[in-house]
Amino acid sequence: MTAAVEVRDLCYRYHDGTEALWGVSFRVEVGECVGLLGPNGSGKSTLLLHLNGILPEEGPANGQVRILGRPVQPAHLPWIRQQVGLLFQDPDDQLFCATVAEDVAFGPRQLGLPESEVRARVERSLAAVGLAGLGDRATHHLSHGEKRRACLAGLLACEPSILVLDEPTSGLDPRGRRELKALLRRLPGTKLIATHDLELAVELCPRCLILDQGRLVADGATLELLNDEAFMLAHGLERPHILQHVHPHPNHV
Ligand code: ADP
Ligand code: MG
Repeated sequence: MTAAVEVRDLCYRYHDGTEALWGVSFRVEVGECVGLLGPNGSGKSTLLLHLNGILPEEGPANGQVRILGRPVQPAHLPWIRQQVGLLFQDPDDQLFCATVAEDVAFGPRQLGLPESEVRARVERSLAAVGLAGLGDRATHHLSHGEKRRACLAGLLACEPSILVLDEPTSGLDPRGRRELKALLRRLPGTKLIATHDLELAVELCPRCLILDQGRLVADGATLELLNDEAFMLAHGLERPHILQHVHPHPNHV
């Protein structure tokens, strides 16, 4: 079976010399929902930006990342970006149109869809994220949670087969987190979710990857990894409270 995402020996260094990724390799199968954990600065966002070719910035990527079998290279970028919907860590980096509806329509318009289809997709996507009827709102007047949902609507409107989400619940209040988790659970397709929200990882992701200082230090069953308190602490994480009644069972690479 062709993997939805295949990353092989990926290394990346920023212009200032920061080594952000060191020999990262993993696969995500079609239909999986995988968590990506790790402390701040461990390379989560850098990794996700490689999955639709935002990074590397210059020079051809060397085929270390494949999406549904195709290498992430300039010639494939339009197709890759149709397959991979990337939710940025900061919604203000993603929203750039004056109103919510215009923003959500931007992606489908880029795909060259007829205007009637664009409008239908905008309505469907806004309804899916609980923003039905708010299309005329100014994006800069939205709350943080509404901005995130508007960004997600923009991704859904392009109907990507793979959702790559960078800290989707950060900055949300408990109700906002609960609603977003329920929404993510309902969405079909392959998902890779970078998060500090260990409850989200436990509830939505049967499998997790753990990054620390640019290296993949674990790839395995979420419950087993998160239950290994010593391992979690050693990599700047903690054993989530919701697991307190589950017995430890270490398993890491
Ligand atoms: P995470 O998302 O896990 O917090 P990042 O991928 O943002 O981690 O960062 C990984 C490393 O790369 C960190 O050391 C960070 O400081 C560095 N980094 C991130 N973005 C840049 C950038 N634009 N220029 C230089 N270094 C960066
Ligand atoms: Mg990040």
